[in-house]
Amino acid sequence: MREIVQIQAGQCGNQIGAKFWDVICGEHSIDTSGAFFGEDRAQLDKINVYFNEIRKTRYVPRCILLDLEPGVLDSIIASPSGKLFRPDSFVCGQSGAGNNWAKGHYTEGAELIDSVLDVVRKEAESCDCLQGFQVTHSLGGGTGSGMGTLLISKIREEYPDRMLATFSVFPSPKVSDTVVEPYNATLSVHQLVENSDEVMVIDNEALYHICNKVLKLTTPNYVDLNNLVSSAMSGITCSLRFPGQLNSDLRKLAVNLVPFPRLHFFMTGFAPLTASNTAQYSNTTVAELTGQMFDSRNMMCACDPKHGRYLTASAIFRGQVSTKEVDDQMFNIQNKNSTYFVEWIPNNIKSSVVNSPLKGVRLSVTFLANTTAIQDMFKRVGEQFTVMFRRKAFLHWFTGEGMDEMEFTEAESNMNDLVSEYQQYQQASAMEEDTEEAEEPKQAQ
Ligand code: GDP
Repeated sequence: MREIVQIQAGQCGNQIGAKFWDVICGEHSIDTSGAFFGEDRAQLDKINVYFNEIRKTRYVPRCILLDLEPGVLDSIIASPSGKLFRPDSFVCGQSGAGNNWAKGHYTEGAELIDSVLDVVRKEAESCDCLQGFQVTHSLGGGTGSGMGTLLISKIREEYPDRMLATFSVFPSPKVSDTVVEPYNATLSVHQLVENSDEVMVIDNEALYHICNKVLKLTTPNYVDLNNLVSSAMSGITCSLRFPGQLNSDLRKLAVNLVPFPRLHFFMTGFAPLTASNTAQYSNTTVAELTGQMFDSRNMMCACDPKHGRYLTASAIFRGQVSTKEVDDQMFNIQNKNSTYFVEWIPNNIKSSVVNSPLKGVRLSVTFLANTTAIQDMFKRVGEQFTVMFRRKAFLHWFTGEGMDEMEFTEAESNMNDLVSEYQQYQQASAMEEDTEEAEEPKQAQ
């Protein structure tokens, strides 16, 4: 068995994490007491990837829930699925991180980190063959962002040969009005570039747009945003949780999607996007889904893929659909849009079918793309960072926790470098063609 340990950190990390467990418990027919109530034993084929099996009767999420304040964890414990989790997998502080990355990374969070690592070790040791870790967190706050990335660096040190994937929520002023979020996010990206193998980007700016423009919700709240997140998380992980060939573990996913080690930030797309009360009436075809999947409105990252080029991508269809139909449609769309795929990675888009559908949606598709267009999101956060940093605004909150201003400068330049690297690969082919053309007359002489 190839187990994954999930770690959820901070308010956002725990809220999206809790929703993830709700959804996957439903898909594997695990009730709130951890018992299997289904009829199809195939739902248990890969159950050990995310659950510990206790005496063949109870399935317990392999999950560590941490926060620097008790509010969200208390509400998870009090919720109907609260009993699903092992009581000693909750690690909680009392002080809070006050949306301050430095408190999470260097002071309050650093004090609690050893107790978290003890729980991580316990989980890892009880695994048969651990494939890796998956962290859910936001980058805009203090705990998930500062302490989350501290934990990631410690795990990287202790388990250098295991995979480390994150579901990272990028901040947007449309959703939150904490001014220092661009600081927290940039300091986190600086860490994720070095210490994570794959980052599934979830951008609150895009979630807000989808809720507002597509689902017509005038004032979307976190429950609305997290419904979208959970569909994407379920879709991304379904190839890890159900039998199949493509991306069947975290390493295979990375091998397919990461052509250069630093460029491991994936844009997620999902189709069909329908308000939850109309989902059951939708009767989407594979052709329609394939079209929607490439549309910027379906992306959970506020960037238009048409502004860049795809390095690699993978699409997982869910429901009763033939592989041939999927292959034909994917072939068509790639042919029509070949300029959007770099030609120096042949067959850079993979697709597969998982028959188990997302609850309430007969046919759906989740798209995971490594596209150079994602640089627009980093530029957005980077610009918000730079306007404040130029005047050193709010910096005393961070230096007051012992942080050096130098770390801000380094984080800023690391993110700028990342943007340049995407840009370089976006232009790679165009430049090579130019040189080839320039050389032709010489050869003719
Ligand atoms: P932490 O508890 O210190 O890690 O702080 P938070 O997780 O509250 O971080 C604040 C950032 O997370 C802001 O950008 C919020 O918009 C975002 N956020 C908080 N809760 C949620 C949530 O449940 N869903 C989503 N999508 N974003 C959230």
